[in-house]
Amino acid sequence: MKKTKATKLMDAIASLCKRRGFIFQSSDIYGGIAGFWDYGPLGTELKRNIRESWWKSIVQTHENVVGLDSSIIMHPRVWEASGHIGGFSDPMVDCKSCKKRFKADGLCEEQGEDLITTEKGFALPENIKCPNCGSRELTEPRDFDLMFKTFIGPVEDDSARAYLRPETAQGIFTQFSNVLATSRQKIPFGIAQIGKAFRNEINPRNFTFRSREFEQMELEFFVEPGTSEKWHTYWLEERLKWYEKVGLSSDNIHKDVHPKDKLAHYATACVDVAYDFPFGRQELEGVAARGCFDLTQHQECSGKSLEYTDQETNERYIPHVIEPSAGVDRIALALICEAYHVEWLPKKNDSGLEPLEAEPGLRAPDGYEERTVLRFAPTIAPIKVAVFPLLKNKPELVSKARELFEQLQAIWPCFWDQTGAIGRRYRRQDEIGTPYAVTIDFDTLEDNTITLRERDSMKQIRVPINELISILSEKLK
Ligand code: ATP
Repeated sequence: MKKTKATKLMDAIASLCKRRGFIFQSSDIYGGIAGFWDYGPLGTELKRNIRESWWKSIVQTHENVVGLDSSIIMHPRVWEASGHIGGFSDPMVDCKSCKKRFKADGLCEEQGEDLITTEKGFALPENIKCPNCGSRELTEPRDFDLMFKTFIGPVEDDSARAYLRPETAQGIFTQFSNVLATSRQKIPFGIAQIGKAFRNEINPRNFTFRSREFEQMELEFFVEPGTSEKWHTYWLEERLKWYEKVGLSSDNIHKDVHPKDKLAHYATACVDVAYDFPFGRQELEGVAARGCFDLTQHQECSGKSLEYTDQETNERYIPHVIEPSAGVDRIALALICEAYHVEWLPKKNDSGLEPLEAEPGLRAPDGYEERTVLRFAPTIAPIKVAVFPLLKNKPELVSKARELFEQLQAIWPCFWDQTGAIGRRYRRQDEIGTPYAVTIDFDTLEDNTITLRERDSMKQIRVPINELISILSEKLK
């Protein structure tokens, strides 16, 4: 099959992620395992920055939001109450010819059709074909249970069955009373959690976009009945501002409003925040108004009251909830896609040639050289500053650079590189998105100034060494 421009671009991004240590296939030396990914040294830093920025914007800067770190395996009845047991499945179809498996609704949508609802479940419209081999020999849609199962204790029977959580939210709902009693919060207030979630996805694809193990950042914000609309609007706006702050251009971010007739039966509103990936517009986060469904369900199934008493009015009610639920891995992928640029730059400054945006898969024209650059926002960039001595065999340069490196490293994640031509070292940092590089040369030894080079403009300025930290602090804000 001929590769589309989007596939070539995603291949180039996945290859950079592997080559430079952002993302590896899980169990790579055994040939990988579909739907599971490992984050290398730079990917780990990138994810840490995403989590920290989210935590800061949700918890640290809202005095009425507190954190939680709940367990991955919970009492199996949690999943009965939440509706996941019995309900958390996707209808899927198999291609009888090439044996590939697809989500029935996604397949229909891609081919401009609607999945047909029947008395027994679902059926495919007639002209749907396999997107892999083109065959029309597809099985009827069947339910596919998305929860990973395990057993607790030594006996593997039904009474010992447990599940890996498919979302972090239920840990929050089940601890609602404990958090309320210990945190001295009053409605409206929220509980936030970041953690792993697991879904046995039928068809993991688009690099890390749809994985079987992934990380969620979820807020459950509890409000008085009748105030959901106001808080839903508030949190949606907060989340949109955050996406812009971490560096996703508002041109590529979209609000996908779920029509009322397509909402879950308990929800009153849901807006997905979607991003224009090279492979299409896809969800990064859902911001839903879930009514009092979750707490009511847990109250009924556990027999424990989850009502809230308003201390001033003595009114008792089950709070309603607003849930912004985002995926760390999808956001990391969106940030990498947004940051990824390949440019063709004139080899010589005086050639009269203009820089060009590169075409994926093609070589740079004559007179040009290629530069790959990740234009991460400074707060998100895994490494903030690189430090280079001009020459590695001049001890006086190396020791001066080392001294500066150690000072900077105490403040920011930094990178030390002393090998290769200086231009090559700049390019290596461009490729991992380091916003600034500092070079120590012979002039430094004379006048205590260094060269500060900026990633995007490639401009170099001379800066006194004793002003560097305050200049960088300003630039990296
Ligand atoms: P989708 O329709 O894409 O399967 P969803 O609507 O089922 O997603 P939610 O249950 O709303 O997703 O989960 C909240 C967030 O968790 C999603 O917006 C996404 O960022 C993340 N997420 C969900 N499933 C996956 C997955 N398989 N891989 C990576 N991230 C995921």
